[in-house]
Order: sequence, then structure tokens, then C-alpha cells
Amino acid sequence: MAYSSRKIAEDIEKFLMVRYEDWEGKEQFSGTADRLVRMVDELCWPTERINEECKKYFQSTFKDSYDEMLVEGPITAWTLCPHHLLPCKFTVFIGYTPNGHVIGLSKFSRLAVVMAKRPIMQETYSRELADLINIQLKPSGVGVYVIGSHGCMHARGILQQETDVSTSVLLGGFKNEASTRKEFFDIVGRRATQ
Ligand SMILES: [Zn+2]
Repeated sequence: MAYSSRKIAEDIEKFLMVRYEDWEGKEQFSGTADRLVRMVDELCWPTERINEECKKYFQSTFKDSYDEMLVEGPITAWTLCPHHLLPCKFTVFIGYTPNGHVIGLSKFSRLAVVMAKRPIMQETYSRELADLINIQLKPSGVGVYVIGSHGCMHARGILQQETDVSTSVLLGGFKNEASTRKEFFDIVGRRATQ
């Protein structure tokens, strides 16, 4: 079934207008439907568009013999939580040990931002990000560490302002070698608290 984001946005605007019918400030909702549609387009890309965009980032990799760990971050990515559709801010660290091929540094940042452009749980996001890098670059190891600041925990429900959620996905050497694992978390720990 096809849903029209325009129709849903208009319904939401109408809902606000009706709920606050007696309030003179209700004029603030005029145009909200248009802004909602633009917001949904910005934050909720179709899966196909996300996949195509991400594929592009791996089209130009460079042969290089650098085989030590590289860690990029903090990268900021915004998503909506799939359960409440409230904003969720991800602070992302990506590490990998190249195995003959490296990728342009801006690509990891773009990848982290674009992969969050659909309502997605932090656990799924972390896993998908690590898996994609692993499949596309075939490095010796990958580490993804994400700190999530969830609007649905801060602004409603449990109301925990200071609580963040961290997730990590480690693959290859990052998972199997204790020294690599430690090196990654040492770097991330230093940068995350700066
Ligand atoms: Zn939520």
C-alpha cells in the first residue's frame, strides 16, 4: 500500500490545530505539514537511495601498504528512533586495519551519516556499518563504536538526561586480538572524553 507523507503530515497539522483549538498560539502550526514533509525527506531516505549512496563511497579505493590501525571519529550522525520517531544523536568512531586497500577519509564520515538516514536502532546501525565496511574493503579488522543520545530516553518515558548508550561491533583482528582491541578502545576512550 502506498502511503503519502503529505497526507500524514496534513493529518498531524490538523490534529495540532484541533487539540489546541482554543489557544491563540495555534497559528504557529500553520505550515507545519510542509516542514514535516521536508523533514521526513531529509531524515528518512528510501532504503534503495541509502544503498546506492553507500555503494558509491567504495568505488574509489586506493592501493596502499599501510597496515596499521586507522581510527576516524567522533563523527556525528542523526537518526530517528524507530519506536518513537524521536531524534537520536550518534557519535561514531570507525576503526580499521587496511589489507592492501584504503579509502578516502571523508567516506567514512559520509557513510556514518547516510546509514543513519532511516529510523534505525543503534544496535542495528552499528552492526550494519561494521558489516558493510568489512564486506566492501575486506580489511584485516573493523571496529565500530557508537555513543547514542536518545531523545526518547531524555524527553519522555524514563526521563534520563545524562544516560547515553554505547554499542560496539568488532570484526576480524579487532575481535580476535586482545592488543588490537585494547588499542582501538584506548584511542576511542581518549577522543570520546575530550
Ligand atoms: Zn525510542
